[in-house]
Amino acid sequence: EDIPPPLPLPHLPVTYVNRDDEATKTPFYSEVQRTLKDVFGLQQFRPFQLEAINATLTGRDAFILFPTGGGKSLCFQLPAVCKWGKKGLTVVVSPLLSLIENQTNALLSKGVDVVTLGSSITQVREIAQRLKPGPSLPSLLYCTPEKLEHSGMLQSILATLDRAGQLLRFVIDEAHCISLWGMDFRSSYKNLVQLRERYPKVPIMALTATANPQTQDDVIKTLRISNCVRLTQPFNRPNLWYEVRKKNTNTVQQIAEFIRSKHSGHTGVIYCSSRDKCEIVAKQLRQAGLSAKHYHAEIPPEDKKQVQEEWQNDKCKIIVATIAFGMGIDKPDVRFVIHHGMPTSLDGYYQESGRAGRDGLPADCILFYAFRETTFLFKRIRENETATRDVKAHQEDGLRHMIAYCENDVDCRRVQVLNYFGQPITREECNAHCDNCADGVETHEQDVSGPAQSAVKLAIKLTVGISKPVSKTELVSKLYAQHKDSAGSGKTTPKAKLERLVNRLFAEGLLDTIAYQTGQNIHSKVQVGHRGIAFAKNGGELTMTFKKGAKKSAPSMGAPAGSVSNAPKRTATSAPVKIAKATYQLDDDAIEVS
Ligand code: ADP
Ligand code: MG
Ligand code: ZN
Repeated sequence: EDIPPPLPLPHLPVTYVNRDDEATKTPFYSEVQRTLKDVFGLQQFRPFQLEAINATLTGRDAFILFPTGGGKSLCFQLPAVCKWGKKGLTVVVSPLLSLIENQTNALLSKGVDVVTLGSSITQVREIAQRLKPGPSLPSLLYCTPEKLEHSGMLQSILATLDRAGQLLRFVIDEAHCISLWGMDFRSSYKNLVQLRERYPKVPIMALTATANPQTQDDVIKTLRISNCVRLTQPFNRPNLWYEVRKKNTNTVQQIAEFIRSKHSGHTGVIYCSSRDKCEIVAKQLRQAGLSAKHYHAEIPPEDKKQVQEEWQNDKCKIIVATIAFGMGIDKPDVRFVIHHGMPTSLDGYYQESGRAGRDGLPADCILFYAFRETTFLFKRIRENETATRDVKAHQEDGLRHMIAYCENDVDCRRVQVLNYFGQPITREECNAHCDNCADGVETHEQDVSGPAQSAVKLAIKLTVGISKPVSKTELVSKLYAQHKDSAGSGKTTPKAKLERLVNRLFAEGLLDTIAYQTGQNIHSKVQVGHRGIAFAKNGGELTMTFKKGAKKSAPSMGAPAGSVSNAPKRTATSAPVKIAKATYQLDDDAIEVS
C-alpha cells in the first residue's frame, strides 16, 4: 500500500473562530470517528482536535495551542492508531518520565501498541527488535528528548524506518520547553532542531499550553515548521473564579478558614515560592486541622511519588507545593488553586491556576499578593548564574506583567490574562466571575502621563548619585508630600492612589527595585528602571483605570455560591461599564503631581 498524496488544506488562520464542516469532509473521516469511539471511548471531538488530526494525517506540520486539559494528547494518539495510509510509527517526545508513563499506561489499557524509551541506556537495544520496519511495528514510541539526542542506535533505527516510509510523524509534546523564553526550558529540546534536517519529509506536530506569542514563534522557528497549521483552542476557562487578595501575616489562617468553610473535603493545591515556605504553610494548615502535605524539588524521590499518589487517590486533600508540582498532573476534580506566593509570570499563573476545575465544574483560583515580595523574586532572577542576559531580561519582563496583574484591581482578570496571550475576550464574557468584575464598581480610564513623569523625576532626584537608599514607602511618602505642597488648598490625591501609580511604574520598568543587605537584613531600594531616564526626559503615554466609587467592604473569598455557569450568559446589565476618561471625573480620581 502507498501513502495517498497529501490533501490540499487551506492555509489556516492562527485562530479558528467557528467550527468548520470542511473538517469532516476528508476520506478518512469515518475511520477517525470510529477510532474516537472504539479505541478512545469518546463521543465527540473537542474544538480543533479534528482539525489537528486532519492536518497531521494529510502530512502537514501542526502547531497545537490548547490550554491545559484541552485534550492535546488525542490530537496525535488518534492519528497514530489510524490505519488510513500506511502502517507506521509515531514518535512522541515528552519531557518527563512521569508524563510518559501516565500516557503510555492509559494507551496500553486501551489496547494500543506502544513502546517507551526512558532514561537507561540498555533500553534501546531491548526494543530495537520491535522497531524494525514491517507489519508488527508498534503505533507509538514515547521517548525523552535526551534519549533522542544521545542514542545513536535510536537514530539509525529511525533512519531505517524513514527509508521504509514507516516513520509517520514526530510529536513534540510540551513544546514550549524548546524556547528559552519558556519557563521550562530544556537544553536537549533545542536539539530537536535537527529533526527537520534529518527527516525532511516527516511531518512534525508541536503541542503546548503556553500561549505567549513570543514563545510560540520561537517554537515554530526552532522546529522549522513555519508553514504549519496553527490551531488555538479558546483559553477562557469559564468555570474558574479568579481573585487577588492582599497578603498579610494572617494569610494562612484566612486560607484555612476558606478551605474549612467552602472547600471542606475538597482537593486543592497551594503554591508557595520557596521550599521552606511549603513546609511551614503545610504545617500550619495541619495545625489548623486540615490534611495537607508539602511537595518540592528537594524531597526524596520516593516521598515525591508517595505524596503525589496520595493526592491523586484522594488520601491527602491538600498539597502545598512549589511549581515543581504540576507538569503532568491530571486530576480533574481540583476545586481550588491558591497562590500563597506569587507566580513569576502570567504564563506560570495561567498554567498553575489552570490545574483547577479540569472537570468543568466550579473551582476557585486565589492569589495572595504583597508588593514587597517582588524584590525577592527579582533578586532570584538576577542572581541566576545559568541564565543569559536576554533570558533574565525576559523573565524580569514576565514578572513585571505579573505585578501589573496583581496591582490592577479594576480590569477583568480574564481580560488581563487572555489579552496577554493575545486572545481576544471582553469583560462581558467573564460573566462577573472574577473579583474585579463581581465587585461591580464603575471604572474609568485616566491619563496619568504627567504624574508618572513627575514621579520618575522625583525618584531620579532621590536615588541617583551618592544618596542613601530609598524604599518604595519613602518614595510614595515624598511624592505625597510634594503633591500636597503643590495642591495647596486644592484637591489632594489619596496616598493609596499614588502608591498604585508608583507600583505601575515598577511594572512598566520605569522604576526598579533591588535588594541590598545591611548585616543580616535584606532590604529593597528604589532605582530608576531601564526605561526611566528616557521617560523622565521625554515623557510618554500612560493611562490607568480607576474605580469611580469606593470598593464594597471586605467581600468574602472565592466565587459567590451558586453563581457559576459553564456557558457564560451574556447579561449586559451585570457587567460594569467603563466610562470614557473625558466624560467622568471624580475629585478623588484627579491625580495631580508636579
Ligand atoms: P492536555 O494534554 O491538553 O492538557 P489531555 O490530552 O491530557 O490534555 O486531556 C485532558 C483530559 O481530557 C483527559 O482526561 C482526556 O481523556 C480528556 N479528553 C480529551 N479529548 C476529549 C474529548 N474529545 N472528549 C472528552 N474528553 C476528552
Ligand atoms: Mg498534555
Ligand atoms: Zn472578570
